[in-house]
Order: sequence, then structure tokens, then C-alpha cells
Amino acid sequence: MQKKQLLLHICCAPCATHAIEEMKATYDVTGFFSNSNIAPEEEYHKRLAEAQRVAETCDIPLVEDTYDHASWLEAIRGLELEPEKGERCKVCFHYNLSRAATYARDNHFDLFTTTLTISPHKRSQTIFQLGRELGPFLEADFKKRDGFKKSIEKSTAMGLYRQDYCGCEFSRR
Ligand code: SF4
Repeated sequence: MQKKQLLLHICCAPCATHAIEEMKATYDVTGFFSNSNIAPEEEYHKRLAEAQRVAETCDIPLVEDTYDHASWLEAIRGLELEPEKGERCKVCFHYNLSRAATYARDNHFDLFTTTLTISPHKRSQTIFQLGRELGPFLEADFKKRDGFKKSIEKSTAMGLYRQDYCGCEFSRR
């Protein structure tokens, strides 16, 4: 039987390692690097290059979305001082997930999901709720079954760059 087509929003390479492996067992996976939240731009390109390396190693295609940090800043305007896990992060998830949902719909994917749920700093239920509102979202909680630990082991084995802040300039403070 033909596998369903899944668009996997990839937030960064370390998080993708484990998520791709889990999803490939069941789905035909395409990665989607859509992260206009990342600043500065050099950091964006560094994370993209590492995501491309993981995609090649895992033998999946990776689509790069347009990088538009100015538009992302506009979306989170007024929430700059929010703490991590607060309202700014919700808007940030919505921004990236809605781009993934649109790409999935326009390119006839059966489902979309995101690697964001692997992080212990991100609430999976918040991400699920946003995903459900946007389209045919697969509720994959990658932090389950030691997912985060496995992603660290895999990214260490691959010698991947592991960033020390979430992504936006406000998470660097
Ligand atoms: S801290 Fe991370 S999730 Fe929150 S707004 Fe910044 S980049 Fe997005």
C-alpha cells in the first residue's frame, strides 16, 4: 500500500533527527524548513545548512520556505517582552505552522506536522490545538518515548551544531 504523504515542518536539525526516523516508518516524508523566527540571518543559514545535512543523511527531500524575519517581527509586535512559553511563542508557532499548512494544501500532502513538539520547552497541546485549526494536522508528540534524549544522541553522533537559544532575538537575552 502506498504511504501517505506527510509534510514535516523542521524547526532545526537536532530536533529533526529523531522525528524523521519516527515518521519515515509510516509516511512518505518531505521536510519543510520554515523558520522566519530565527535571527540573525547568519544563524538562519547555519541552521538551514545543518537541516539539509540531516535530510540528505535520512534520504528525504527538504523544501526551504522564504525567510522573512521582518514579517515575523510584524506578527509578534507587542509581544517582544513575553517570556518563553508565553504568548509570543504561540504566535510564532502559528506563524510557522500556517505556512506549513498552506504549503501542504497547495502541494496535495495528506497531512502535516512539526518537529517542535520534541522540545521539553514547548507545550505539545498548544501546538496540537494550533495545528488542528489550520488543516489536516498529525498530532505527533515527539518528546514521548525519550524522543528528546534520542535526538540529542543522534545529533551528537552526527556532529550537528546545537544552538544555545530557541531562535528569535528575544530568546537570546
Ligand atoms: S522563543 Fe522560540 S518559540 Fe518563542 S517566539 Fe522566540 S523563536 Fe519563537
